[in-house]
Amino acid sequence: VGEECVFDDPATLRAYAQDASRLAGRPAALVRPRREEEVVRLLRFAQQARVAVVPRGAGTSPTGSATAPSGEVLLDLSRMRRILDISTTDLVAEVEPGVLTGELQERVEALGLFYPPDPASSRTSTIGGNIATGAGGLRGFKYGVTRDYVLGLRAVLMGGEILEVGGRALKDVVGYDLVRLLVGSEGTLAVITRAVLRLIPLPPARATLLATFPTPLGAFLGADRLLASRVLPRALESLDRDVIEIVAAARGLEARPEEQSRLLVECDGTRASVEEEIAAAAQALREAGAALVRIASSPGEAQELWQERRSISSSILRLFPAKRSEDVGVPRGQLAEAVEEMKAAGRRHGIRVLAYGHAGDANLHCNLLFDPAWPGAEEAVLAAAQEIHAIVRRRGGTASGEHGVGLKKRAAMTAMLPPASRRLHFGLKRLFDPHNLLNPGKALPLEEAG
Ligand SMILES: Cc1cc2nc3c(=O)[nH]c(=O)nc-3n(C[C@H](O)[C@H](O)[C@H](O)COP(=O)(O)OP(=O)(O)OC[C@H]3O[C@@H](n4cnc5c(N)ncnc54)[C@H](O)[C@@H]3O)c2cc1C
Repeated sequence: VGEECVFDDPATLRAYAQDASRLAGRPAALVRPRREEEVVRLLRFAQQARVAVVPRGAGTSPTGSATAPSGEVLLDLSRMRRILDISTTDLVAEVEPGVLTGELQERVEALGLFYPPDPASSRTSTIGGNIATGAGGLRGFKYGVTRDYVLGLRAVLMGGEILEVGGRALKDVVGYDLVRLLVGSEGTLAVITRAVLRLIPLPPARATLLATFPTPLGAFLGADRLLASRVLPRALESLDRDVIEIVAAARGLEARPEEQSRLLVECDGTRASVEEEIAAAAQALREAGAALVRIASSPGEAQELWQERRSISSSILRLFPAKRSEDVGVPRGQLAEAVEEMKAAGRRHGIRVLAYGHAGDANLHCNLLFDPAWPGAEEAVLAAAQEIHAIVRRRGGTASGEHGVGLKKRAAMTAMLPPASRRLHFGLKRLFDPHNLLNPGKALPLEEAG
């Protein structure tokens, strides 16, 4: 692929050793292609030489899915970052995988179009990574997730063959849905080199509201009341007391004692519909017991509230030495009870469990805080995480609502998958990658893998 695309100096390899999971990898080399042809050549060689390859976008995965734990070659797609087309008539964008999600959002919004998938990492993560993980985000409840906006893909199979699936047609039911199969496949089936993404008209207006509650479960009750009053917010995010304290501390402030939980709500639509909807939301939240309901009075104030929400993860890491991120999902009606149980599970093992995130989708980020220097810390965190997974399983939920399996959730996946589904997972992997060379050991149940 050319000298200038291949790096094997120790400093560079160290810089790429981890993803956001902080699991350590030890890549044998880093390849940074500039075009699809170089990906083809690398995967052709890799198959012949039986070299394992791990695709990588921006490395923001919290599961270890973008690491090279066994001396694999890392294939960094972040240099392939051209926006090839934005069509205001076809309502699609065609992009290379390394385009940053936030950059695409800005470019299409300047044309009056909207790409709704919005992971909190949108300013740093790539479209290729979002597709490979099936990323969710803040607007999932109203608009759906990445999976709902991928119309077509070009990808390179292990061995170098190019696969084209889907296209620019907004509806397409010919054949098995291979587009959806590749979405969320965590780089284990093919390397995505181009994507056709669906766009929709940009709603002309939006409004943001902050509500605080004097009880720990107030935010969840508020979310239920709001939805029951027929408001369909584009974002509905909850924060628990621990997170409120951390957000305040990161800004050098102290959280007010009466603020035990918090909801952030955003509505969009026409100016008139937004005014009506945000007023209905405010009323529903007051009826649900909110102590304070504040509608942002300017775009700057709204942006500040969302910036605070997006920076929760980095605020936690500024104040605590380590955390384990779980992004569990449960059936909506069980959210409040499940969170109480998960916090109790943490307490049993001496671990503080924070819960914040997508209250609309009942997909919460449960962060288990710990200090690796404590004796027995790793074991305690693992035991608490296993209990949390058991709780969501018992409630008919999932171990991951949006981050995927990677390395960290394989045990939880093993416990979740019934035999027929497990057989098909391994069968598909063998069909796409018979020698198990593409991101081996990730995203599959534990036994039989590898
Ligand atoms: C602060 C923070 C907030 C976050 N918020 C959210 C959130 O709200 N919602 C959410 O869903 N996630 C969130 N995440 C997780 C993460 O950002 C997403 O999983 C994201 O989609 C990963 O994109 P990436 O470009 O960093 O990919 P990477 O981390 O580099 O890779 C992730 C996976 O995709 C595969 N991959 C990457 N590119 C390709 C490609 N071109 N072809 C094939 N496979 C590929 C990799 O092999 C790996 O399996 C957050 C992470 C952080 C650190």
